[in-house]
Order: sequence, then C-alpha cells, then structure tokens
Amino acid sequence: MLYIIATPIGNLGDISIRAKEVLEKVDYLLCEDTRNTGQFLKLLNLSNSPKLISFYDEVEEQKIPEVIKLLESGVEVGLVSDAGTPIISDPGFKLVRKCRQLGYLMTSIPGPSALIDALVLSGLPSGRFSYLGFLPKRDGERKKILEQYKQIDGAKIVYESPFRINKLVEEIAKVYGETTNIAICRELTKKFEEVITGTAVEVSQEINKRTIKGEIVVVFC
Ligand code: SAM
Repeated sequence: MLYIIATPIGNLGDISIRAKEVLEKVDYLLCEDTRNTGQFLKLLNLSNSPKLISFYDEVEEQKIPEVIKLLESGVEVGLVSDAGTPIISDPGFKLVRKCRQLGYLMTSIPGPSALIDALVLSGLPSGRFSYLGFLPKRDGERKKILEQYKQIDGAKIVYESPFRINKLVEEIAKVYGETTNIAICRELTKKFEEVITGTAVEVSQEINKRTIKGEIVVVFC
C-alpha cells in the first residue's frame, strides 16, 4: 500500500497522530531530501524508522519502476515531501497516476498545506479559488498566466519567492487593477508568521519599505 503523508510546513506540532502512526509502520519512505526527512523523523522520536528512498522531481519517473516493485512485493511505502502535502507543487503525481493505472491500494494522510493555510488567513472570499502554483520566471509567461486566470471568478493563490514578491504585486496591479485585494502570507505556522493585506497599491508600498524574507504565499481577489 502507498501512503501519501502530509507533514508540517514549519511547526512540528502540526504533525497528525495518524501521520506519526503511519511513519512508524511504513517499511520505505520516499522523500525529496533524505537528510531533511531523516532529521524530521529524529525529531518525531519514532519507535521505528523507515528506510529512506530519495524521490525528487528530476528522478521521479526513473524511480517509479523501483517503487512499483516494492509495492508488488507487499511492503508498505510512504511518500512525503520536504514540507506540507506531497504532490502540491512537489513530486508524486506521476507515481500516484501509475499506481491508479495498476490498481494499487493508496491512501492519503491529510494535513498542512501552505495554500489552504494562506487562504484561510487571508480574509479574502474562499468559496471559489484557483491555485496557480509557482509562476514561471519569464515575464511574458507570467503575464499570460495571470491574464488567463482573470477570466475565472474567485481568489487566486500563488507560491512566490521573496526575491520576486515586489515584482508579483506589481504584475497583479497591472493585470487585475490597483484596487485588487492582496494578502501576502509569509512564514506560516512559524515564529515570524505575518500576513500583510491591502489593495495592490497599499501592499506594494508596504513591502517596498522593507525586505520581505521567508516562505511566501500570495492570495489575491
Ligand atoms: N507541498 C507544499 C504545500 O503543501 O504547501 C508546497 C511545497 S512548495 C515546493 C514550497 C512553497 O510553498 C514555498 O516556496 C512557499 O511558497 C510555500 N510555503 C511552504 N511553507 C510555507 C510557509 N510555512 N509559509 C508560507 N509559505 C510556505
């Protein structure tokens, strides 16, 4: 059986009881970075630790046959990412697709994901929303995606690096208008968690006054 296991996005206390139980019982654990996951498992003080298998974007496809062999042999396999819910802007989709095609048993241990945490904290309407993931780096491609989603109702959620956050707010103002409501949600669940809200113009003025650091999710509507 394959277990897709969500892990905390910055606060160890957010690990679920079920996630811990499953991490203790799986024989193998697919993870993006074996060192990160190794340290994380140590912090959890588990009675039993799974064997770690490196499983990051670039090797996902080539590792699938190996994982399928393990599943065929009847062992329990888990999948985690460095943080949050696997597959959400993280590896795993191709493996799950393959397991669906082959009819293997799978379940997901739900838990933290930065996009949901940001949406909940944003104060923006949440009935309908679109998740855009990370935008491409090239200006033209970014603009094109922002324009495409303008046709769709509801909040938009983007993962962004602190180095491009000022640029993204300017782009949103240009494509969606200066009065678009924005929430910059950074360092969620961590010590320096902060949510900066206002119109595109207000948020732009605020973030231009200082350096915005850490992990960021932008919600706008
Ligand atoms: N799978 C993860 C999830 O479920 O949210 C996302 C992985 S993606 C590679 C990493 C990005 O998620 C970061 O660059 C940032 O945009 C966002 N992120 C992750 N943790 C965060 C946090 N604690 N606060 C704000 N954003 C976070």
